[in-house]
Formats: sequence, C-alpha cells, structure tokens
Amino acid sequence: MIPLITANVGQEVSLVIGTGSSIDKLGLVKNRVRTLLSSGGNVVVVNASFQEHWKQLEQEFAGIAEVRMLYRDFQLPDLTTLGRSVVSRVVDRVFVNLPLEQDPQLKHIYNQCVKMRIPINTFHRPEFSTFNMIPTYVDPKGSGLQIAVTTCGQGYLLANRIKREIVSHLPANISDVVINMGKLKDHIINEDMKVLIKEKYMETDLSKPTLGYGLDEDGWESHKFNRLIHEFDMTEREQREKRVRWLSQVMEYYPLTKLADITMQDLEGHSIKATKSSSEPKSTLPVEKPSTDGSTDQHIDKKVKIDVGTICKKNQRGTISLVGSGPGSLSMLTLGALNEIKTADVILTDKLVPQTVLDIIPKDTETFTARKFPGNAERAQEELLQKGLEYLAQGKKVVRLKQGDPYIFGRGGEEFNFFSNHGYEPAVLPGISSALAATVVSKIPATQRAVADQVLICTGTGRKGALPQVPEYVSTRTTVFLMALHRVDTLVKVLLEKSWDPEVLVAVVERASCPDQRITRTKLKYLTSVVEEIGSRPPGLLVIGNATGVLLPEKSVTFNESCKYHIDEGYRAFELDTDYLIPKLS
Ligand code: SAH
Repeated sequence: MIPLITANVGQEVSLVIGTGSSIDKLGLVKNRVRTLLSSGGNVVVVNASFQEHWKQLEQEFAGIAEVRMLYRDFQLPDLTTLGRSVVSRVVDRVFVNLPLEQDPQLKHIYNQCVKMRIPINTFHRPEFSTFNMIPTYVDPKGSGLQIAVTTCGQGYLLANRIKREIVSHLPANISDVVINMGKLKDHIINEDMKVLIKEKYMETDLSKPTLGYGLDEDGWESHKFNRLIHEFDMTEREQREKRVRWLSQVMEYYPLTKLADITMQDLEGHSIKATKSSSEPKSTLPVEKPSTDGSTDQHIDKKVKIDVGTICKKNQRGTISLVGSGPGSLSMLTLGALNEIKTADVILTDKLVPQTVLDIIPKDTETFTARKFPGNAERAQEELLQKGLEYLAQGKKVVRLKQGDPYIFGRGGEEFNFFSNHGYEPAVLPGISSALAATVVSKIPATQRAVADQVLICTGTGRKGALPQVPEYVSTRTTVFLMALHRVDTLVKVLLEKSWDPEVLVAVVERASCPDQRITRTKLKYLTSVVEEIGSRPPGLLVIGNATGVLLPEKSVTFNESCKYHIDEGYRAFELDTDYLIPKLS
C-alpha cells in the first residue's frame, strides 16, 4: 500500500469503515489509525462494529483534531462527502473491516470505490481490495529509514516475516549511518546550492544545474560521479564537485557500518586510516632500515620475545606480496590469496577491494585503507606505499591486497617497481580479474567458435584522465573496457567515428559477482542514453562484441527504439562452506 510507506500523506483523508468482527479485536483498527496519523493524514472512522469499540477509540483518540468519529452507520455518500475540498470531497482511501452480517454491503462499497477510483483495502478480502497493505519497518530512532516488503499478494504474513529477517540483518548502527549520511548530504548540498544559485542560476539557464545533482541524491546524475577530477590546481568549482563525488563514492564503497562515523573533515584529512587502534609502534626498539643493495639479513634472534602487535620482529626482514582479491565473490579468491590474508601482519587495501574479502581478515591484523577519491588518488597512493615501507622496515609481513588481478589496471607494476627499488621485491599472486569474471557472470563466453576468436581488455581512462587511443573494430573480438562508464558518451562517440558497428551488442556489467550485481544489455548505438537513464552502480565495465548474446535467447538481446535495453539483477553466489575453508577465522 503506497500511501503508508511514504513519509507524508499530507492532509489526505482515510475513511475507516467498521472496526472488526469481534469485540476484543480492535487492535488492528487502532494500529491503522495510529499509522495514518503518524504519516500526517486525517482519519474518519464510521460504523463501529460494537459500542465497546467506540468507547475504546474515544479513550485513545478523543481530542485529536485529525481523527473524526461518526457515531452512525456507513452510507455510500460518505465516500464523496467526507474528503478534502480540493478533491471535491472524495475521500483519498478506504479501509473496510465490517462484521460478517454486514457482508452484503461490501460489494456496494467496493463497486462504488472502483467507480470513483478510490483505493480500497478490505481486511482479509483481496477480492474486495484494490491495494494491499505492505508491512513496513520504520526506524524507531527516527532516522527516516523505512523498509517495505511486498510479495505482490502472495501473503502478508510472509512479507512480514521477510521484512523481519531483513531488519534483523541490518547493522546495529544503521540509524546512525542514515542520520550521518543525511547530514553530510545536506551539508554539501546546502553549501553548494547557495554558491550555485549565486553564481550560476542568476546568470544562466535555471533548468540546467551543472553540479550533477538535484535536491535529493536520487536525482544526482550518478553516471557522472566517476568523472575525472584534476588532482592539482583545482578550480573552486572542481573542489566542490570533488566533495559531492567523494560522498557518493563513500556511500557506494565503504563498509555500511563505517558510514556512521565519516565526517566532512575526512575529506580533507588523511588518505590512510588505521582500522586497529595500535597502528603506531609503541616500543622504542630501533627500527631496522632496509639495506640499499637489497641484501637481506635473515638472522632471527629466537631468544628475544617479540611483541608482533606492537613492533618489529627483531632482525627479521619484512616481506611483501601483491595479492589479487578477485572481483567480489569470496568464491573467486584464490587459495594463495587466502593464505596471504590469514598470515599477514599488515594488510594494505583500498576501496575497490571487495567487502567479502575484507571480512575474512583476522580481527587482530592491522589493516590500512588507501582513501582514494577523485582528486586525491596520487596522494593516497603515495601515502600507502610509504606506509608499506615503514612496516617492511619493522620486519613485518605486508600484504598489499588489490582488487581483481594486481597487474590489470591496478598499478601493480608500479608498486612492484617501488618496493623492488627499496630492496623488497614483492611476491605476486594473480587474482581473477573483473574483466574476465564479468563476462562469465553475464553468460558471455569471451571466446566462442565462429563468433569471437580474441579478447581485448582495455581502459576508457588513460593517463591524466585523457581518453586513450581506442582500438579498431574487429567483429570477431570481445572487447572489455574498464574504467569507462563515467565517460561512456565520449567513448561511444569515438568508437562510432572509428567505424564500430552501432548494432553490436554491449553488456554493462556492474558489481560483477557481488549480491547487487547488475547486467544491462543493449546495442552500442543506445549505450549512452541507456547509461544516462539507469545511472551507475560502481564498479562497472563494458563488454562489447557479438559473443554477448550467444548464450541468451534471441528475444532477450533484441533491442529497438521502444525497447532499448534489458536488465538482469543479482548474482547467484556459490555457497561456500567457510567453516571448512576458513576454520581459523577470528
Ligand atoms: N585490477 C582490477 C581492475 C582495477 S581498475 C581487476 O583486475 O579487476 C578498476 C576497474 O575495474 C573499475 O573501474 C571497473 O571498470 C572494473 N571493476 C572492478 N571490479 C569490478 C566488478 N566487480 N564488476 C565490474 N567491474 C569491475
């Protein structure tokens, strides 16, 4: 039932006809009246089923201006005389809960409601209802969070049970998360809107705000959020854009529970944060410096008891590995990566590393996250590398966990060089790249006899954000573009100029292998408008080529002006027996 889940039904009038078939069951009607009142509406109750009901309703609602009680039987004209004057007195919705003996009346009420287009809900009688009640969770702490579940008529109780399950799985601090994010959003929008109104609206077209969002972030043009922002020499406007994009990326990528503590200062602050309080060495033991020629001192003094939690494993040389975490699902993590994660002293990560993988890091392992956001990626990267060196100098086992495969657009090569040049050559463990997992989860065989005999992985974002040289079109090739969705308009333009086939099939694969995976299929010529319409759910990539449709029925990959795209939501994960695979999870 839509009106009950909206925050505000304004002055709308709900008519409650009858108060149930049993003298001791007034709870339902009372609840309904309370809910309607809490969403800001007016309620008229008519035709109480029992004298006792009147008494009880009086006790609770007498004196409340928004509740009217009519101590009489219901009459059909009530439907068109008790409502608001702006809608010619027609009531806005009707709830019926009549005793059995009044059943014959039900049909008339229902027919009249249908005729007058008044939504009607009859208790336990779907055949006399035009809308169903939706069990709705309203955050009692008043954060504004509401969760409504519907099974579309398959059962109110079931929907209610599912709602309870969902609610029980929410993090304990969900109210704080909602409140904090709302506060930051308001702060950013209010500040920027003031400037925008002053600077822009006064001079130019009011209908074209240029910051990429409206008053509600649902209206933000999310497909633009990943656009490149210059890191240095930012204009004032770019600085403001940076904050909006920062917030959007924080909301998309950060662990949900952490969102309660993010502050505006974090935007300006450090790019690396310890997630464990003992991040700084407490001991005064001398810190070992790596030798400049890369030689190592393997001697370990076994008599010295070393407190790994605080500082260096004396005389032990630090080690580093670059480890791929796969695209998202834990089932795509390699055993080698699992071993590295479980045996690390320190893990260096960034926001792209999937939460499922971060969740298996033992609790007492120090974890540092590079806060790479538009506008500070270089600084964050530099800081992360320096942290890595510090820990290596303390003799620790450092694991640099990288999303997907470390060497596919992950700056893995640069990191390898950096640490090697400082005397610590990393061991490198490949991971399943999103480029190749995304095709699999989207039912795209990247190579397929007679359709595609080659695969190309490339980027839509070159150095300093420029569009890199795009490849020529090969009809038997599957081309995967990473980091391209934020600038799909430019990319498509260039591809078409380079004679790519406008009819070739494209899959936009977002959050591949994550529970909220989304696959959108379309044709190259529709891609720009489709991405604009659906917004973005980062991270995502593009797969272009004729292999995109080969495993799917013809009708689900047939697109035209009236049906430009098709969306598949969700990822059916492999069930993992983590008790068996990861027995020592702490
Ligand atoms: N080394 C990573 C890629 C890092 S570049 C790998 O091998 O997967 C980051 C880009 O990877 C994103 O912009 C996006 O295009 C892509 N990407 C990463 N994870 C993804 C996922 N789960 N689903 C779809 N695309 C993803």
